[in-house]
Amino acid sequence: MRQLLVATRNVHKTEEISSILEGFFRVLDLSAVADAPEVEETGTTFVENARLKAVEISRTTSGLVLADDSGLEVDALGGEPGVYSARYAGPAAEDASNNRKLLAELAGIPKQERTGRFRCVMVIAREGEVLEEFEGCVDGMILEEGKGAGGFGYDPLFVPEGHTQSFAELGSCIKNSLSHRARAMEKVVAWLRLAG
Ligand code: IMP
Repeated sequence: MRQLLVATRNVHKTEEISSILEGFFRVLDLSAVADAPEVEETGTTFVENARLKAVEISRTTSGLVLADDSGLEVDALGGEPGVYSARYAGPAAEDASNNRKLLAELAGIPKQERTGRFRCVMVIAREGEVLEEFEGCVDGMILEEGKGAGGFGYDPLFVPEGHTQSFAELGSCIKNSLSHRARAMEKVVAWLRLAG
């Protein structure tokens, strides 16, 4: 089976990508690479950060590398937290503190104005060169309190369009059928098939 290295240490991203590529690609992440460089996300857009990670990590190996940069864009906050989703509550932020900060920023914003989307950009690189870039989005609403225990990040606060439960309540099967990452991965899979 062919192998794909995902330039992440986020086990949740690796699990979601592996389950989509199951039976097609063997998926590894940076936990399997000794001395993988720490790539600083200094870009101001998802695509810049995904390129930085894909290019730098692909210099350390001969195979294909896939990097994902993703986050939540909230309309009432002018698109924040966006590329800063992982560090919204500060440099030592964790999911719980990021979610608390988001709820505080949205305090008093009525239901119908709590719209937003998850966006995911994926970049495939080999030996320091970008080969292709992909994007996936899912629109939805931000809840007034977290619901559900599944998933990661802002999943407890995000209800995807067409549903009444949060990503954290819907579970991985439904999330992986409609998420921003799944939609970007559909395009990745089509490209990988064509690339042979
Ligand atoms: P990255 O590792 O720089 O791409 O940061 C992504 C951040 O965006 C994560 O730490 C989460 O806060 C948020 N995020 C991205 N994708 C998801 C998702 O599928 N569910 C919930 N939060 C997500």
